[in-house]
Amino acid sequence: MPTESGQEVSELSDADLAPAIDALTSASSVTVLCHLQPDADTIGSGLALAIALDRRNVPVQVSFAEPAILPDSLQTLPGGDFLVAPDEVADEVDLLVTVDCGSVGRLGRLRDRLDGARRTVVVDHHRSNTCFGEINVVDAAAESTASVIARLLDLMGAEIDKDVAHCLYAGLVTDTGSFRWVRPGTHALAERLLETGIDGGRIARALLDTHPFGWLPMLSRVLGSAELVQECAQGRGLVYAVVERSDVGDLRSEEVESVIDIVRTTSDAEVAAVFKEMPDGDATDGPLWSVSLRSKDSVDVSAVAAQLGGGGHRFAAGYTTRGPIAELVSALTDALE
Ligand code: 5GP
Ligand code: MN
Repeated sequence: MPTESGQEVSELSDADLAPAIDALTSASSVTVLCHLQPDADTIGSGLALAIALDRRNVPVQVSFAEPAILPDSLQTLPGGDFLVAPDEVADEVDLLVTVDCGSVGRLGRLRDRLDGARRTVVVDHHRSNTCFGEINVVDAAAESTASVIARLLDLMGAEIDKDVAHCLYAGLVTDTGSFRWVRPGTHALAERLLETGIDGGRIARALLDTHPFGWLPMLSRVLGSAELVQECAQGRGLVYAVVERSDVGDLRSEEVESVIDIVRTTSDAEVAAVFKEMPDGDATDGPLWSVSLRSKDSVDVSAVAAQLGGGGHRFAAGYTTRGPIAELVSALTDALE
């Protein structure tokens, strides 16, 4: 569906969505799975869908594999009552829906629930999506999975009221970087959600602009040791920072995830990376790292992340890996050549 300017607004027609609508409107029970280390787009999408299904009197559970507790900032979203711990997710269900998951790996240990589902629907906006569902609604032109869910809810005839709008707005405002990465239609959706009476400023502040004081000294340490590798990526440059567990202390994932948004603004480098050491009980093969990659316009970091076992979007991707940091930096610089 290109606009007059030729920009893609969606890669999917309403007819492409029909099998998913049929599955969603005929399901007798639903499990909604979000990705591990969940963000506002996966949880907002999952809870919005759960609220709509519950209103149709369909039993629904929402879950994610890790960590054990929902990040603090996401506890502000409506629909939290539908969340259950991974062990409580039914082994068998009529319909399983994954939201914002580009591959089965993103389900973590909950991937086995795919086998116990009579039908599966994958709803996502990652171009790298492996289409692991029976029905796949993957719109890589969509700015957020929440936007795809909004479209599905409309086609299901589900009402987007204040609670559903709050959940969807959470995904939309975070995945667009507070409406910096937008397409025709982004603001129209935002307007429609805001019309329900949600407080957009308050939602954005809770999700993106709230950190404890300890965030400031952590940033100072981590950013103070950032490195610029100018010759990397054919001279376009790589900037990276490392967040070790000792830098994190009692801080939350929200503080750790904020680092990439500062590092990526470096104008000397096309590519930015943040290596985030994960809490990990079994570290015999070296520490476990979750790596965030960002690029500005000429490097496809989803391809780089895919080479290193991960995935994502063209300008925002990531992967999970193990080992000493020097080796990981050299694997990344090699992948960028
Ligand atoms: P972030 O840097 O915000 O954690 O992730 C940026 C993008 O990369 C997200 O769209 C996310 O789906 C993807 N991503 C991050 N980490 C991983 C990972 O370990 N595996 C895969 N497949 N994708 C990831
Ligand atoms: Mn997303």
